[in-house]
Amino acid sequence: MPDVQLHDVWKEFVKRGRTVEALQAIDFTVEPNEFAAILGPSGCGKSTLLNMVAGFDRPTRGRVLVADEPVEAPDPKRGVVFQEPALFPWYTVLDNITFGPKTMGQSPAEYRTKVETLLDQVGLLGFASHYPAELSGGMKQRVGIARVLIMEPRVLLMDEPFGSLDAQTRSLMHELLLSVWERHHQTVLFITHDIEEALLLADSVSVMTARPGRIKKRLAVDLPRPRTVELTTSPLFNELKREVLALIREESRRAAIEKTDSL
Ligand code: ADP
Ligand code: MG
Repeated sequence: MPDVQLHDVWKEFVKRGRTVEALQAIDFTVEPNEFAAILGPSGCGKSTLLNMVAGFDRPTRGRVLVADEPVEAPDPKRGVVFQEPALFPWYTVLDNITFGPKTMGQSPAEYRTKVETLLDQVGLLGFASHYPAELSGGMKQRVGIARVLIMEPRVLLMDEPFGSLDAQTRSLMHELLLSVWERHHQTVLFITHDIEEALLLADSVSVMTARPGRIKKRLAVDLPRPRTVELTTSPLFNELKREVLALIREESRRAAIEKTDSL
């Protein structure tokens, strides 16, 4: 049974009396331990889709299930990583990461070894007592990831998590996320508009249409693991990249024509 299931999901927003159709007839699943990426142009409904899996919002029509249960509200079993990690500025790295376990009533004995391991895995062992203001963007995002992983989520939901980082840091974050994922192997739903990022990280890439968002095509990314950035120069990687680019170009053209028609 898939870990994430969306069945005929539609979503519309009503804004100042106007209806915005964000998603249309989405059928989408993520298998246990699958790293699934969703790729689409800005405004096509990617965050809307993720927010419904996270439990921040409800579909207008259709069903969203995680671990075979309807999603009704946010839950630590579905860990969410956003573009901005929104850390508590007055807490240290350690206190930010242990906030979740403490809130759940876990004792230090329960989470201590987990924190040590995670700090090591995200390369922040020497920074436990630092405050967010003392960290770079990439380090903050690593705290954000550790904070979610400590809750041992069944599903990891990532909404353009590296979108605000510079290319160099972003590339390091890809390697870090891959190494962490090789160890934990959670089910991941990863949203991005970056083709290379999607292909480097994911087992499958689903390309969305322009708004109202639908799943245009799902491609299997049968590239060997463990993966490193060098993979981006391989022939198979570039073949997949060309295929995805063609799908996206087709979509932008269609959207541009529709826009002109409605003028
Ligand atoms: P993406 O993440 O792909 O950039 P979003 O899911 O954020 O796109 O938005 C999809 C569409 O839905 C956009 O046109 C956006 O303006 C609209 N939208 C998203 N959230 C809301 C909301 N809370 N109220 C009204 N419209 C919204
Ligand atoms: Mg978004």
